[in-house]
Amino acid sequence: MGTLYVCATPIGNLEDASYRLVRILGEVDLIACEDTRHTRILLNHYGIKGAAISYHQHNQKEREEQLISRLLAGDNIALVSDAGTPGISDPGRLLISMAREEGIRVEIIPGPSAFVAALVLSGLDSQAFVFEGFLPARSAQRRKHLERLKGEMRTLVFYESPHRLLALLKDINELWGDRQVAVARELTKIYEEVKGGLVSEVIKHYEEHPPRGEISIVVEGARPDIPPDLEQVCHEVLDLMGKGVEKKQALAQKAREYGMKKSEIYNRIEQLLGS
Ligand code: SAM
Repeated sequence: MGTLYVCATPIGNLEDASYRLVRILGEVDLIACEDTRHTRILLNHYGIKGAAISYHQHNQKEREEQLISRLLAGDNIALVSDAGTPGISDPGRLLISMAREEGIRVEIIPGPSAFVAALVLSGLDSQAFVFEGFLPARSAQRRKHLERLKGEMRTLVFYESPHRLLALLKDINELWGDRQVAVARELTKIYEEVKGGLVSEVIKHYEEHPPRGEISIVVEGARPDIPPDLEQVCHEVLDLMGKGVEKKQALAQKAREYGMKKSEIYNRIEQLLGS
């Protein structure tokens, strides 16, 4: 029997291919790609001439049978998607589970995935997170899905197309409140950018600069339902002021973030500074 190699490929920068990826792609009998023309760019970059066949959502069923037969007959096959890791918001999962059921050896060639890169670059809590991939495109279904996730305390990661980014951010702001968010755009490419801040600020930015390219979104999880420690909030306000933010603005930002009254924070700061 052959081996099915599940291969992660670069999410933009072709230099992110590992030595092992290049060797395996050069050695296998067949490369199953989402889009053969797209994968040829990577193969040509590394001088790989191997045979490629398409495997995507429209021919998935028939291809799975063909690929499994070839694996059973002894061929080694590499599975790649257009970018990142197969099976992550991309085809691959069914082929992998079929191969495993048949007792075929399945090996991973690990590498890039946009959601991991975005999560890490966001600077938000990466200890516990949920990856939600693409939310439904239709507004009503998307909002229903967001309602269900409202109380999720872990960091949330989404994929979204540039023309739906603002709609998603506006829904998040309306349904979840003004949380910290990071929009990771075009990672590993020339115009790589991570725009972080409160959702309202990021909305304003993208209203002024319409987004383009490939986008992953990382959102802070819900805060636990315990009242924030007032002194801690005061220190956060003073920290902001130390960084040059005006007192009024720093108070307003933290009051909004923690759902507290500005006067409550102000009075405690006065006490702290007076003591
Ligand atoms: N399998 C891929 C992976 O492991 O990341 C994801 C495939 S999914 C069809 C494509 C989506 O991933 C894009 O629409 C975008 O949301 C996200 N994405 C892919 N490349 C990206 C990049 N360079 N920067 C930011 N997000 C990216």
